[in-house]
Amino acid sequence: MRKEIMDILACPQCKGRLNLTVEEERDQRIITGALACPKCAETYPIRDAIPNLLPPHLRSL
Ligand SMILES: [Zn+2]
Repeated sequence: MRKEIMDILACPQCKGRLNLTVEEERDQRIITGALACPKCAETYPIRDAIPNLLPPHLRSL
């Protein structure tokens, strides 16, 4: 994902701002990392440059 989309990304649960943690970055894109919501104390993983914003209880389905 590109960093710019942080501007339009919001927590799926509370619609609040997410904090970005970058683990791996390549060509201005975040390949691996995490998006964290301080309000919900929830973390959404970024894998293969795709942020997984599914609520935790839906991830295993
Ligand atoms: Zn939230």
